[in-house]
Amino acid sequence: MGELRYNKDTKKERTMEHGTCPVCNGTTRVPVPESMERYKTVIAGYDKETDTFGCTNCGAQYMYGSPKGTVRLNKDGQPCKHKYTSQTVGRCLTEYTCSECGDRYQIDSGD
Ligand SMILES: [Zn+2]
Ligand SMILES: [Zn+2]
Repeated sequence: MGELRYNKDTKKERTMEHGTCPVCNGTTRVPVPESMERYKTVIAGYDKETDTFGCTNCGAQYMYGSPKGTVRLNKDGQPCKHKYTSQTVGRCLTEYTCSECGDRYQIDSGD
């Protein structure tokens, strides 16, 4: 085995790091919460085989997104459990920004 050396201080690389999603533990699926039981079948991402939703912490929250099982690291260097704040940026457009890792996405609510 050769020696591998990385410069761990490279800020740029650090911000690109990902870790295992803390919400689904990398499985990309989460159990249906009690409160959603009644509506689950009409929610995008519901899978009736496994009775789970796609994880909305690692991909299912994005428009056309699918869960990946990994998330960006937050400012403490831990895989982020996103805390989004929403902001209306257009007539039908809402932008969500995570206060922990800076992740940002937009949802078009359509007409
Ligand atoms: Zn997840
Ligand atoms: Zn985040």
